[in-house]
Amino acid sequence: MSFTPSTENLIKALQLMPGIGLRSAQRLALHLLERAPEEARNLSVALETALAAVKKCPTCRTLTESDQCDICASPEREEATICVVISDADKEGLELSGHFKGRYFVLHGALSPIDGIGPEQLGIWQLIDLISAQDSKVTEVLLALDDQMESDATAYFISEQLKKGSIACSRVRFAQFKSGSLDKADSRVIADALANKQTIGFEHD
Ligand SMILES: [Zn+2]
Repeated sequence: MSFTPSTENLIKALQLMPGIGLRSAQRLALHLLERAPEEARNLSVALETALAAVKKCPTCRTLTESDQCDICASPEREEATICVVISDADKEGLELSGHFKGRYFVLHGALSPIDGIGPEQLGIWQLIDLISAQDSKVTEVLLALDDQMESDATAYFISEQLKKGSIACSRVRFAQFKSGSLDKADSRVIADALANKQTIGFEHD
């Protein structure tokens, strides 16, 4: 079966989305073009608008529409602890629980050399620079990552980079959650995970 060149292009673009295979991409593309041109136009405008307005906070990489995200801009938040998460959805989950008062750093992924995702793509050097800056007040890093293999590798990599300093580094485990679903976790699960953080390494001054 062959579609028009533009339809093929749309199918290819949809297929790049996570969890969308060729069949789903074809179904979506044909649905939008055949039965829902108005929704398709709305989707296109919403996408363009979001792409123009949303950017990463220069400090913590949270998605924001301001020069700095609300949490980095807030004087109420403790500066001593940074919680590293894989996605904005995980940050939202922790925020909803109300159990964390520090600041965040969002990686937007986990190390995956096979997909070309290294420390640079995840902002890990930016995180290290942030923590080791002269005026940094950070004394503790919480790695609130799920238990996927890539997340373990990412946590190990970050903790190795922090070994040289006097930063306490702990792993906060959400065993039954995959990154992206923490916003559905109940607040007690998050409170327990934060209370049971596991120290990875701490070298005193
Ligand atoms: Zn921020």
